[in-house]
Amino acid sequence: MRIAIIGAGAAGLIASITAKRLDKNIDIDMFDINKGVGKKILASGNGRCNISNTNVTKQNFIGENPSFVEKALEQFNFKAFEKFCKSIGLLLDIKDTSKVYPLSNEAKSVVTLLESTIQTLKINTIFETKIIDIKKEANKFLLIDETSKKYKEYDKVLISSGLSAAPQLNSTEDGINIAQTFGHSSNITYPSLVGLHTDFEYNNRIQGVKKEAIVTLYIDGQKENEIQGDVLFTKYGVSGFAILDISQYAVYPLSLCQDVQISINLFPNKNRNELLGSIESLFKSLANEKAQILLTGIISNKLAPILLDVCKINKESKAKDINAKQLRSIVNTLINWRFKITNTQGFKHAEASGGGVRTDEVDSNTYESKKCKGLYFAGEVLDIVGNRGGYNLHFAWASGYLVGKSLVK
Ligand SMILES: Cc1cc2nc3c(=O)[nH]c(=O)nc-3n(C[C@H](O)[C@H](O)[C@H](O)COP(=O)(O)OP(=O)(O)OC[C@H]3O[C@@H](n4cnc5c(N)ncnc54)[C@H](O)[C@@H]3O)c2cc1C
Repeated sequence: MRIAIIGAGAAGLIASITAKRLDKNIDIDMFDINKGVGKKILASGNGRCNISNTNVTKQNFIGENPSFVEKALEQFNFKAFEKFCKSIGLLLDIKDTSKVYPLSNEAKSVVTLLESTIQTLKINTIFETKIIDIKKEANKFLLIDETSKKYKEYDKVLISSGLSAAPQLNSTEDGINIAQTFGHSSNITYPSLVGLHTDFEYNNRIQGVKKEAIVTLYIDGQKENEIQGDVLFTKYGVSGFAILDISQYAVYPLSLCQDVQISINLFPNKNRNELLGSIESLFKSLANEKAQILLTGIISNKLAPILLDVCKINKESKAKDINAKQLRSIVNTLINWRFKITNTQGFKHAEASGGGVRTDEVDSNTYESKKCKGLYFAGEVLDIVGNRGGYNLHFAWASGYLVGKSLVK
């Protein structure tokens, strides 16, 4: 049997290894635009690779039908992943947060070991080759690259070509385009785990300020989600872990032109009255000091003058000049600072892509297309995107493993 795999990322690599280990007699050709395997693995987790998570459930995934992941997670839970890693010589570092990294703390180790395994198994790699079309004739698949070169006589094909996040690593949506020629439909793709643009006029002046906060997302005025974590103010808007996480729920509505706003509570561990009481007593005890100076005792130097501007309070005001209404306005802004989201940092800066090939058209037991026998999908090309924390790579591993088993059946 001859198998073609389009994309030598996490999903394609584990699928090829699993299939070849189960049946040494199959021939596998694995294609990639890049010069080598696993370029996105190398970039992941800032080069450290948050490779998986010990606590993976369907709740960690977003898509038209997140339950689609269940079969793959059942067959390839964290224990199974750990066993696979050991089988290629990779030891893992499990953090208290349930995030998992290679023990070496380097993504390079993961790629080196996967590369060595595919060489040992004699899986054929065809690099610097961009597959742009697939045809099925007389039960055999024919692949065509962008130079019109043809690769013939495949019994099965796996599309594990990922999606658009990080186009600088040669990411494409070719997988969706090819799937469409077989009658598949797809859901609109969008950058996920990405910084968000705001229309705040002071962005340039507060860039670099970082603070733990609660971020609440409002879509068309309705509260949609709430996440606590770091917020980083930037020249374009906001970033930081809480923002990357909330972006997963903000970007799709934004692409539909819905009204998307966030509220930032800069004091997640204090309630409104506590904060009001603290500032009130500070302003009373140091009544002749400038309010702006006193505010730098509780928020960043950069934020204090902006806060007064936003609350329409004269920056020269002394603490004793601030009336009760102005004080309430300061506190309200600190715990419910509203920003309108206007755009995202785009695919170039996104860790993942949402949307993709519709999962209803793929068999969740085998990951085989329901439209074309012998055609399979795995990884990010499908309309599944995971939360931050190793879930995207885990889905790539789990779906690739399941396909690897299906390919040899
Ligand atoms: C900067 C960054 C950091 C990340 N950090 C983490 C992290 O720490 N933890 C985590 O879980 N996830 C992380 N992710 C997400 C994770 O890396 C991906 O979800 C995962 O690698 C997807 O694997 P895949 O095999 O489905 O696709 P990919 O890894 O994208 O592999 C697809 C391959 O197909 C190739 N290809 C595309 N089109 C064609 C074509 N037409 N012909 C031939 N080849 C083609 C591509 O070049 C690519 O090599 C990160 C992503 C980025 C960009």
